[in-house]
Amino acid sequence: MRQLQTNVHKTDLWQEELVERLKWLINIRWAAVIFIIAATFTSIYLFNVSFPDLPVYLIAIFIALYNAIFKFYINKRSAGNLHKTIRRFAILQSMLDILSLTVLIHFTGGAENPFIFYFIFHTILTSMLLSKKEAYIQACIISILTVGLFTLEYLNTLPHHSVNGFLGIDLYKNKIYTAAISFVLTSTIFIATFFTASLAEKLKNREKELEEAHLKLLEKDRLKDEYVKMVSHDLKSPLASIQSLLEVVIGGFAGTLDEKVKEVLQRIQKKTEFLHHYAKDLLDLSRIRAEKNLNLKIFNIKEAIDTAVEIASSKMGEKDIQLNIEIDAQLPDIKADRELITYAFLNLIANAFKYTQHGGNVWIKVSRKNGYIIAEIKDTGIGIPSNDMPHIFEEFFRAGNVIKTTKGTGLGLAMTRHIIERHGGTISIESELDKGTTFRFTIPVSAK
Ligand code: ADP
Repeated sequence: MRQLQTNVHKTDLWQEELVERLKWLINIRWAAVIFIIAATFTSIYLFNVSFPDLPVYLIAIFIALYNAIFKFYINKRSAGNLHKTIRRFAILQSMLDILSLTVLIHFTGGAENPFIFYFIFHTILTSMLLSKKEAYIQACIISILTVGLFTLEYLNTLPHHSVNGFLGIDLYKNKIYTAAISFVLTSTIFIATFFTASLAEKLKNREKELEEAHLKLLEKDRLKDEYVKMVSHDLKSPLASIQSLLEVVIGGFAGTLDEKVKEVLQRIQKKTEFLHHYAKDLLDLSRIRAEKNLNLKIFNIKEAIDTAVEIASSKMGEKDIQLNIEIDAQLPDIKADRELITYAFLNLIANAFKYTQHGGNVWIKVSRKNGYIIAEIKDTGIGIPSNDMPHIFEEFFRAGNVIKTTKGTGLGLAMTRHIIERHGGTISIESELDKGTTFRFTIPVSAK
């Protein structure tokens, strides 16, 4: 007995989210660099405020430099590689930011500078990226650095750089002010850390739950595909045998048949043929869905279309339909899964024949544009009711105007869409009831 295998790869969505947020932080840092330079320039030259501007510009350059390195690193490493070091990467960025901001505050008025509250923005932004423990360690480091800076300036161990013309002079020497600003800053930082870190933790847990639910659904979907594949495979072979046996009996090779019996057997043959076709479509669809890699080969697309036209024409029966083929003579060979691309053309051409009345027209046009093959299969057939159009590529869907008149599985278009999208292409449809339908699809000249 065959076994259903389970092997869904667990993707770490949270890690991907972290990479996204780090990219976002890098963009914010560019804005911060521009802000520091612009604010320094305008306050000195427009508002005649004075403070040591050279260290401030140097800090801005330092921030820009490490930001550029981070940007280069995050763009260069593949997502898989980055995930192993992402935590350390986030911590390193946070530490460098804290250090730069502390030095910046030191050169622009220390405890007197209201921009010290920018540490709170920093806390909120980074606490989302770090673990709860790391976020609290970060809050401690900020508190130690800032309170340390204020104290050292208060004790004159570190020189104080006043911002003349803007900030209250010599407030840093005031014991009560220094103590109060230290208390307000550190308590706000810890409160911000508490709220952000607990919110981030809740979000992380929620995301984990959603991810698990998503994986379970994927797994169920995969099991369903496996199951359908197994059942359709097991149905297909005996159905093929029944068909061959019926052919032998109807052909009179097992003895002469009464006309009535022959008629009944022919009806059975038709039904079996449809069942066989159904099992084959189901099997093909589940195979395509389950297949991870395309069997890429370089081939001539015209040959694939010729094969599809030949098979579709053989299924058309007595119907007289004018087929017009316009294939760009300059079409290059393409790199794709030959079998699947032939299958996609076959589905669309066979449908065009199937849903076009006697005396109608079908066009196949294929050209090339910007590295893509553009194919169009157009017919003057029965068209599709507009309310059915949004569902036309869904599995098992058949439009209201065909259900009673023609037999079908509703799987061909779903499969075609899968094939095109797996190749990195797109498919679209235009249709007018009783006038005709056009399917257009693109595939890259060289699929990956
Ligand atoms: P099937 O043809 O076996 O029913 P498909 O998946 O190939 O299944 O097509 C789904 C539905 O789309 C068809 O049942 C039909 O309603 C509609 N359809 C597809 N191609 C055409 C066409 N060329 N003209 C009109 N209707 C079409």
